[in-house]
Amino acid sequence: TSDKRMPDGSIVGLRIDVSDLKNAQLAAEAANRAKTDFMGVLSHELRTPLTVILGQVRLARNINRLPAPQSLEKAIKAHPETEAEMTPLVDGVWAQIGMMMNMAERSGNHLMTLINEVLDFAKIDSGNLTVDLQPVEVATLVATTVDQLRPLVENKGLSFNIDVQDAQIEADAKRIQQVLINLISNATKFTEEGEVGLRVEALPKVVTFTVYDTGIGIPESEVQQVFEPFHQVDSSASRRHNGTGLGLAISRDIAIAHGGNISLKSEIGKGSAFQLTLPRLDIADVPTGGRASLA
Ligand code: ADP
Repeated sequence: TSDKRMPDGSIVGLRIDVSDLKNAQLAAEAANRAKTDFMGVLSHELRTPLTVILGQVRLARNINRLPAPQSLEKAIKAHPETEAEMTPLVDGVWAQIGMMMNMAERSGNHLMTLINEVLDFAKIDSGNLTVDLQPVEVATLVATTVDQLRPLVENKGLSFNIDVQDAQIEADAKRIQQVLINLISNATKFTEEGEVGLRVEALPKVVTFTVYDTGIGIPESEVQQVFEPFHQVDSSASRRHNGTGLGLAISRDIAIAHGGNISLKSEIGKGSAFQLTLPRLDIADVPTGGRASLA
């Protein structure tokens, strides 16, 4: 923290406050800890679906101990009088195969989502996240997303409330859909009863997408931190919810890449509301005509 005199007589000052150094050191230590925790969390997250897939493949191997469906069908053709007895057997074998495939497929999709999350984060970390901006109708984008997520929300016994005002935005539809999927999946994951909702409001200059829930809520002290990569409110080994802690960090960066942002209001035990704000295309500051007429 001392000034240094150069040969030409000038003074080069380097003043660092000791408490700043201490804070920077604490922040670096916290970031390091979060990364180490993340490696543990990620290994566990990747292993779980992989275990299911391998389990189903092993079961499928054992299925050759059951009569093959084709041979059962042949037997029925040869002895039609056995049909009533044989049909449930054939159906049973097919049903079992179908169930195994469904489980493996679901776990495979989950694994793909996790890996894509890690890859997206690597892109963001190296400044390589690009968005392909096109004019997008909000109502259409929301409708496809909601259709995709309705089973997830409703299978958990939650009501799914949607309220949409249409508008036009300039967006990478896939990326905005990714953000909404992340927010709605989180809302569902952290809510045991009540509702999950999405409200879209077309304000004069922006469109806001509010994803709200009646779930566990987020402590005041964590409201900023949940957007930090790897951060989970509960990252203990015995944590009850799965996830990588990357979803919100990625979502926030996608919002920023669109000239927007994400904010959060939450109350412990009452619920949370995440609000994605994006600029409207139909009022973009074009002086006359052109895009303004898209409204
Ligand atoms: P994760 O993969 O862990 O869900 P996110 O970045 O999406 O990662 O979320 C980070 C953390 O923020 C979660 O682990 C959880 O602790 C908290 N969180 C996110 N959404 C909600 C919500 N709707 N209700 C309560 N907590 C939430």
